[in-house]
Amino acid sequence: MTGKILVVGSINMDLVVRSPHLPRPGETTLGSGFGTYPGGKGANQAVAAARLGAPVAMIGRVGPDAFGNAMQASLSADGVDISGVACDPEAPTGVALITVDDHAENTIVVASGANMRLSPEDVEANEALFEGASLLVMQLEIPLDTIQRAVGLARRHGLRVILNPAPAKSLAVELLEGVDVLIPNEGELLYLMGEKSLGAAMDKARQRGIRALVVTLGEQGALLVDEAGETRVPAYAVTAVDTTAAGDAFVGALAVALAEGKPAGEAARWANAAAAISVTRVGAQPSLPTRAEVEAFLSERMAH
Ligand code: ADP
Repeated sequence: MTGKILVVGSINMDLVVRSPHLPRPGETTLGSGFGTYPGGKGANQAVAAARLGAPVAMIGRVGPDAFGNAMQASLSADGVDISGVACDPEAPTGVALITVDDHAENTIVVASGANMRLSPEDVEANEALFEGASLLVMQLEIPLDTIQRAVGLARRHGLRVILNPAPAKSLAVELLEGVDVLIPNEGELLYLMGEKSLGAAMDKARQRGIRALVVTLGEQGALLVDEAGETRVPAYAVTAVDTTAAGDAFVGALAVALAEGKPAGEAARWANAAAAISVTRVGAQPSLPTRAEVEAFLSERMAH
């Protein structure tokens, strides 16, 4: 039985163009292959969890424009409850302007738009979505006071709180205290703890009283640190073609596994599998696997 997952986070449309090389300041290049793709860390993680079979609701903000309509439609099509997604009358839907060159290097500019107007009051207005949910999942593409308020409501309603501190930002001690599972990648953990090595950053996280830490390490998998100690959970060997949204696939899958009551080590293995599948495919949301795909992947790996 899966508990309901609530995501409070960002919704963006990714506008992707290919260019032979990344333009220098003042330069115009003739690009090709323009495409629009649903994105934003919050929406990606909501979709990742929904495709894995969990009931998911989202609280967010889009703008009164075609991208906002398209994002609401695509979240709904993936089965996400968007009753908590408001349409801002003034700010545009968040966009990420992405240029990719022939060597797969990219530049990304995110214009947050409506995401940065998601307010503590928006969270309060959707308190009903906290009732009956078991897990709250958040990232850092929305205002910190909104995140803080959501943590408060999660405490009141008995939800466990998962925070993916991306993109990296300094966080108040009070905020971290309300987090049950912190899921940074290595760079984000170093930034957050102000340390240069993984070992020192993990020691500091422990001193700060972080209850459970899951550090994602790319092709090396994940490192789980909780009261049971430190466990390395290796990644699955796959041919990576595009690691966009690997972290989002991991966070969404870990949330589903924890909501189903899987122990942390097993949950991390499951999340590694979902993320491994995602890196074998191009794009953010298009690369996120279904539950059947994760189960088939795992049974194939176990058979070998
Ligand atoms: P982010 O994309 O947020 O920087 P990571 O690079 O740590 O996060 O990747 C998140 C997860 O995706 C990893 O913990 C792992 O499970 C999976 N992953 C990433 N890169 C690979 C890879 N090359 N092969 C297999 N799994 C990968």
